[in-house]
Amino acid sequence: AAKAGGRNTYRFFDTAMAENARARVRLQHELGVALAKEQFAVHYQPQYHLLTREVIGFEALVRWQHSERGLIGPGEFIPVAEETGQIVPLGTWVLRQACRDAVHWPAHLRVSVNLSAVQFRSSSVVDVVDMALADSGLPPDRLELEVTESALIEDHEGAQATLMALRSRGIRVALDDFGTGYSSLAYLRRFPMDKLKIDGMFVRSLDSDQDAQAVVTAIIRLAKALRLDTTAEGVETKEQMVMLRALGCDDVQGFLISRPMPAGQVMPYLARSADVLTPA
Ligand code: C2E
Ligand code: MG
Ligand code: MG
Ligand code: MG
Repeated sequence: AAKAGGRNTYRFFDTAMAENARARVRLQHELGVALAKEQFAVHYQPQYHLLTREVIGFEALVRWQHSERGLIGPGEFIPVAEETGQIVPLGTWVLRQACRDAVHWPAHLRVSVNLSAVQFRSSSVVDVVDMALADSGLPPDRLELEVTESALIEDHEGAQATLMALRSRGIRVALDDFGTGYSSLAYLRRFPMDKLKIDGMFVRSLDSDQDAQAVVTAIIRLAKALRLDTTAEGVETKEQMVMLRALGCDDVQGFLISRPMPAGQVMPYLARSADVLTPA
């Protein structure tokens, strides 16, 4: 009976895995169609500077405009797109769209674009960025690229060369989700960066958890010592923002300031927030 049960268990996993594989193949196919038809949209979330109390830029966040399922968040398709390599054309599309949108914003505003590790390691990444800037007319110093530690770990020399090529153009580089990955301190010295983005995981527990406070305090101190800016992600409460300001964090991003918005809402948002955000 035990053996039969064991076999059934295997059969169950086989079926689940096969279904999973089928779902992935379907998603991969649908992504391919969506790429060909450009059924994606870029939404923008403001980054708010705590000292000047002004919006300094927006992060570009991709959404899939699915014909039946509506708007789908990146968490549902970026991992598959990374596995299949579709992230390279998708990421290029996002980058080009973000540059084309940002060129219409007031000139002091930057756009931050996420680069997946696969994209960052592809040999054409610098050319792709150059083309996106040239075709849109966006000055390089208005573009920031967000990379995660996973983009840096495998090929140190390659990563260093890519970072140097980007930064020599005046493009800024931010290390995203800081604190969740390897967070090797050696990386921060080895790789030229401009900014650390403190992961929302730490920000979320700032007001309740002393350990989270210690971690955020340490990250901000470390960043200052290395002359890096800090952005705190996932700021949802006034209390979190007040603490981050007291700790010397440079800017914040989160639902407290605004949810990500479609491109067409950016200019109206800026007009509104000129009076609303300033006293915050
Ligand atoms: P991320 O780059 O760390 O982006 C921040 C995520 O946190 C976004 O989720 C944003 O909507 C969400 N967020 C912002 N404020 C708050 C808040 O106050 N509370 C909470 N709970 N969440 C908040 P989103 O848009 O679902 O994106 C998820 C991840 O997908 C991003 O994390 C990024 O890693 C990836 N991603 C998004 N767009 C792109 C893209 O164009 N290319 C690549 N390679 N990855 C992307
Ligand atoms: Mg990001
Ligand atoms: Mg992040
Ligand atoms: Mg994140």
